[in-house]
Amino acid sequence: MNILVATSEAAPFAKTGGLADVCGALPVALAQRGHQVAVILPAYRQTRHCGVPLHPLNLRFDIPIGNRIVSGRLLESRLPDSNVPVYLVEHHDYFDRQELYREGGDDYRDNCERFVFFSRAVLEAIRLLKWPVDVLHVNDWQTGLIPAYLKIEYCHTRGYEQIASLFTIHNMAYQGLFWHWDMLVTGLDWKYFNYRQLEFYGKLNLLKTGIVFADTITTVSPRYAQEIQTPEQGCGLESVLAGRAADLHGVLNGVDYREWDPAHDKRLPVQYGPANWAHGKAACKMALQREMGLPARPEVPLLGLVGRLADQKGLDLVEQVLARWVGPEDVQWVILGTGEPKYHELFAQLSRNHGHKVAAKLSFNNDLAHRIEAGCDVFVMPSRYEPCGLNQMYSLRYGAVPVVRATGGLADTIIDATPENLAAGVANGFVFQDYHDGALEHALRRACNAYRTQPKVWDRLVTTGMKQDVSWAKSAKRYEELYMRAIETRRTRGCAPA
Ligand code: ADP
Repeated sequence: MNILVATSEAAPFAKTGGLADVCGALPVALAQRGHQVAVILPAYRQTRHCGVPLHPLNLRFDIPIGNRIVSGRLLESRLPDSNVPVYLVEHHDYFDRQELYREGGDDYRDNCERFVFFSRAVLEAIRLLKWPVDVLHVNDWQTGLIPAYLKIEYCHTRGYEQIASLFTIHNMAYQGLFWHWDMLVTGLDWKYFNYRQLEFYGKLNLLKTGIVFADTITTVSPRYAQEIQTPEQGCGLESVLAGRAADLHGVLNGVDYREWDPAHDKRLPVQYGPANWAHGKAACKMALQREMGLPARPEVPLLGLVGRLADQKGLDLVEQVLARWVGPEDVQWVILGTGEPKYHELFAQLSRNHGHKVAAKLSFNNDLAHRIEAGCDVFVMPSRYEPCGLNQMYSLRYGAVPVVRATGGLADTIIDATPENLAAGVANGFVFQDYHDGALEHALRRACNAYRTQPKVWDRLVTTGMKQDVSWAKSAKRYEELYMRAIETRRTRGCAPA
């Protein structure tokens, strides 16, 4: 199959979260299964400094934006250590900016226009590259318009008649909501601005657009596929999703072990695997404690947290537990993240006042993220909701025992250390149910107690996690099946939206 993956992020070209990891790794796994795969994303400022060479192609295109014509061109590169081509849509005014979507806590005001331009450029790129695409795999609101353009504008255009679309939702909470006048920017007829299609309570909703027009929809874990059809987690689109339940599938993300494996991770002071984890982790832990300015004490439990500092990640629970623990409990914390100012202030203050127990780096630092996975004993992910979550899967491989809330992909990947699960050899972490600081505290206490007093149990938990295989191979096979399904759906339903 010829598969074009359109995305607003792909590692190592541009990354703010898990979407980038997925779009940097899945295409390689698909190529290994014998498919022709390419990736297309915007050429951001970040992309120019990512360390991978970009080559201009002599391919330019014009895009209608409202009543203007805006020109762009394509650059070319490759996903590292692969033959997967990457095409980059260049337009300096739109993409040569400090960040990808927002600065100083505010979204860029022209986000709709930026991603209309990108979405239309993806479709023009197919023509310019003369590549007979079978499936367009689009991701999140930034590309939600592409299935609509395919069905509305390109339905009878030569070369596009057969292209199927698969839309992956990585997070329901980010919907690409814009005021209704942005309909003029999309260039689509106002007749589509109705509650069954592009409109959502008077606004233009690009995530909904993708859900309505795509041939097949996926999200990033089976549990999340269920959860988003409920009012609690559907973010207002639960009935739209329930209406497409027959076309909605949950496919768990995988781990790119070329990037995330302590056995050959050059960012670590020493490499290690399941057979010598205790030795390897001890060295990585001491190096991490030194790097972060914490007392280098091997016996104290070292708890790690890496991620976007957003309410989604359960940081209000962490705040409350830390408030109680930071004085009496002999535990160290390492925190790496960026996000909401209130959490920057909180963690900066904690590390200022309790520097021997809490160390926080409030920046984006991929190398340090690897060293935290390697150096920590416990990885904390008490998310309010979690579509898939990659960090807990990285933690398994790095022998940092995850403490998670049973939601979305966390529930699908982490098995609680109950006596039964331990006896069955399947336990790989500590799981709590209720979104409550007491429940997180209890789970953390269980983890710290096991770490301190039950070395055999700890060894079992660590090695069970490290030996698990959650590579992309399995998920790539599932995507392949769903691409075929999307092609079939496109053939039978034609251009009618669901
Ligand atoms: P989400 O996509 O919701 O942000 P995931 O757990 O799926 O969460 O993926 C987050 C990815 O982003 C991981 O690869 C994680 O290591 C990385 N990440 C998040 N914040 C940072 C940061 N401040 N520095 C380095 N890496 C980060």
